[in-house]
Amino acid sequence: MSLPRYRCHKEVRAFKIAEVRHDQMPAFLRPVCRGSLLFGSACGRCERCQFFREHGDWPTATLVPQNPELDPVKVGSAYLAKHRPEAGGYYVRYDDGYESFSKAKAFEEGYTLLGPIDITLFDPAHAIPPKYLGRPTHPADPPGTSADFPVSTDANST
Ligand SMILES: [Zn+2]
Repeated sequence: MSLPRYRCHKEVRAFKIAEVRHDQMPAFLRPVCRGSLLFGSACGRCERCQFFREHGDWPTATLVPQNPELDPVKVGSAYLAKHRPEAGGYYVRYDDGYESFSKAKAFEEGYTLLGPIDITLFDPAHAIPPKYLGRPTHPADPPGTSADFPVSTDANST
């Protein structure tokens, strides 16, 4: 038996990534330990330990959008480990805030760019003629159609 079919009609926020800029650890002036604060194997006193204490999450990176008008996005270690973002792919953010990454081909086949403004709100074809205001008019109906003048014969059938 074939699997059930689904089509995506979800709206996401996204940008094409020009560069994944991995944050660099500073150059330490004195010898440092190689341990992990998390696992208790670090000395806790060296510059490297100090850096990790101040920085918190590590490694981190900045995703630079191809469109220079957009702001870069900072991502943490969990995102980097799970999604392994690459330049040329898309940074994707869902409605609930979940962040993801998509290869260019998969993303471009699945999504179409929407304008910055929802133009259907201003499309005259969808505007309700003033004389029908107050009566239910379905946006999918052609202009001039309203509950006052049913065009469907079903409306009169008994
Ligand atoms: Zn240390």
